[in-house]
Amino acid sequence: MSLIVQKFGGTSVGTIERIESVADKVAEFRRQGHDMVVAVSAMSGETNRLIGLAHEIEEQPTPRELDVLVSTGEQVTIALLSMALNKRGVPARSYTGSQVKIVTDSAHNKARIKQIDDVNIRQDLDQGRVVVVAGFQGTDEDGNITTLGRGGSDTTAVALAAALKADECQIYTDVDGVYTTDPRVVDSARRLDRITFEEMLEMASLGSKVLQIRAVEFAGKYNVPLRVLHSFQDGPGTLISLEENTSMETPAISGIAFNRDEAKLSILGVPDIPGVAYKVLGPISESNIEVDVIVQNVGEDKTNDITFTVHRNDLPRAEAILRATAEELGAREVVTDAKIAKVSIVGVGMRSHAGIASKMFKALADVAINIELITTSEIKISVVIDEKFLELGVRALHSVFDLDKPVPEEDQS
Ligand code: ADP
Ligand code: ASP
Ligand code: MG
Repeated sequence: MSLIVQKFGGTSVGTIERIESVADKVAEFRRQGHDMVVAVSAMSGETNRLIGLAHEIEEQPTPRELDVLVSTGEQVTIALLSMALNKRGVPARSYTGSQVKIVTDSAHNKARIKQIDDVNIRQDLDQGRVVVVAGFQGTDEDGNITTLGRGGSDTTAVALAAALKADECQIYTDVDGVYTTDPRVVDSARRLDRITFEEMLEMASLGSKVLQIRAVEFAGKYNVPLRVLHSFQDGPGTLISLEENTSMETPAISGIAFNRDEAKLSILGVPDIPGVAYKVLGPISESNIEVDVIVQNVGEDKTNDITFTVHRNDLPRAEAILRATAEELGAREVVTDAKIAKVSIVGVGMRSHAGIASKMFKALADVAINIELITTSEIKISVVIDEKFLELGVRALHSVFDLDKPVPEEDQS
């Protein structure tokens, strides 16, 4: 008998019929004798609907009140799922984040879990109950409701699994595992039998929303066995594992991630003197705007161009700051572009394969895509391109790195 933490995402609990199906599934695991803790998201579309309501009141709702509002989505699903389980003769109890007590810091809308009190859960499990926990939410030390950022129910599930030392954390969703790239964009994307934590972390941070990045961080840190599966189709899913594939045939690239969340800003013709990069980027970071890719070109006339990217939502603020800096430094021009996309190839195999970057750049050149910015780390290469070429670029890279082709059986384990 094992202790299993399961998480069901928004589409998996999107209707009463689906909640009933989830209850059937959980009940089956319970009948097999497993101790069950289930984290659920809000019904699909509900979190967006609630955020929309808040924006009807004001453009920038108070973060504390927004958390009180959006956390209600998950409260609905925990109650409905517990009812469906009880109806099946499987005793179940629902808990909000603060009832559990999932203690977080006070960073409303993007809180981090600090600690989980397992007393209530353990008591229920000891009495044979299924425990149903609201994903995405917690409480800070002062009792304020907090939420964990979009996609945060994944993190609730993994954190519960870590706190309870569960045997496995199963993330059930609307795809049957982690794919080489988003299967909704590339038809020939393949499900991976396993992917390393390191690669999954990069994929999540570079835009693959199948798992929230903090969930992967938690699972890696606390060594939680983590699997992504389809809610309503049987199959092995994808195991996120600590071990690397040691086979000689390790592919150079395991997956491709992308996002359309960033915007690009350039300040042109600033003097090429020490301290200029700091003068340009210092005020941006002081305003708590996160900068991602940064590139500096030195021109022959002793001036610099500095280009960087920020989250699209931060573009208006970043642009205003940059224009003020440009005036102060006597820069020639500030230009911005919100219609960009970042495409990244990810793979631990990059460490042992040469020529990956040039292969990537050639593949994009062959389909006439201009690369605007480049950034690399040990196991990833990202390029910024025009948003309208995103799908074309991802498909070209998927094919050139042989991700369409099935991996031979012996290389999958
Ligand atoms: P849930 O509501 O269950 O949390 P999400 O919508 O957050 O589901 O995440 C699942 C979605 O992630 C899939 O429907 C898929 O479109 C998208 N996705 C992006 N990249 C990948 C990938 N590499 N593998 C699988 N799914 C991916
Ligand atoms: N309901 C939240 C969201 O839509 C959390 C989650 O689904 O993981 O982001
Ligand atoms: Mg999700």
